[in-house]
Amino acid sequence: MNPNKERILTGDRTTGQLHLGHYVGSLRSRVELQEVHDTYILLADVQALTTHYEQPELIANSVHQVTLDYLAVGIDPDKSTLFIQSMIPEIAELTVIFSMFVTVNALRHNPTIKTEARDRGYTDLYYGFLGYPVSQAADIACCKTTLIPAGEDQIPHVETARKLVRRFNELYAPVFPEPRILTGARLGGLDGVGKMSKSMGNAISLNADPQDVQAKLTKAKTDPARIRRSDPGHPDICPVYAYHQLFRSADTEEIHTACSQGKIGCTDCKRLAGDAVNELLAPFRERRGYYEQRKSQVKELLMEGTRKARRTAKETMLEVREAMGIRY
Ligand code: SF4
Repeated sequence: MNPNKERILTGDRTTGQLHLGHYVGSLRSRVELQEVHDTYILLADVQALTTHYEQPELIANSVHQVTLDYLAVGIDPDKSTLFIQSMIPEIAELTVIFSMFVTVNALRHNPTIKTEARDRGYTDLYYGFLGYPVSQAADIACCKTTLIPAGEDQIPHVETARKLVRRFNELYAPVFPEPRILTGARLGGLDGVGKMSKSMGNAISLNADPQDVQAKLTKAKTDPARIRRSDPGHPDICPVYAYHQLFRSADTEEIHTACSQGKIGCTDCKRLAGDAVNELLAPFRERRGYYEQRKSQVKELLMEGTRKARRTAKETMLEVREAMGIRY
């Protein structure tokens, strides 16, 4: 690896298609990062099992769909290594080793685990769900990752990974770099409550058609102060205005002024936001259509990336075994 390049690991759990929140939060930056850094992108099908173990067919189908999403937004398999987690047994091996250095209480106090467990209504935690950050640490360490693009909710997991690699390095030998975090932007849901999430029904899929995009935006929450068109609004608290800020930079100031002075109706404003989203998604739809016709090519590029990631993971595990003195 070029010493001036960062080794980046990023990815998604394969529990369904990706949406605009994923694009703003990470896909957009991945497209830029792949130009400069050594980028690995993980299709986390094992971690998908932590919450969807009863739906293996959904996970398998999602591996293909998420790959299409990646290719659609401009991730280039010649620049980024796309790989499937379950095809790298070394990750599972390292997960077991790392699980020796982390306590159950430390995992229980992970704020993201606590929030997810509460949101999912779990009264008890499955071992795999609780150990999700350990598995993620193994993904990171197997690839010898130095930089991790992460949303705010992922920061506690990355902190766990940092602690685990530090502990390993202290105990045995300095095998792993301690990864740094690169935080990304965030897009709120259309309901104005929390982040965009498919399970909360407040998301726009990356493969949504133009009518669907407009229909979703029509239902978006706005500033509740605006009852009549002439009521002055507060765009800075309006979820729709966030879309203008992110996708329609040229008219953003005008819309702010018009809303604040009660000179634009929310229906028109939402339509303009929908137009902006559709403009962004148009080339994605075209690229996705191209790859949808080439299923075997998509599979092969995924296998090629997985073979490369496995070579990396195997080399790492040789060092791990050497450091621990368990290389028989
Ligand atoms: Fe929101 Fe636009 Fe309505 Fe203002 S005019 S409240 S920014 S949708």
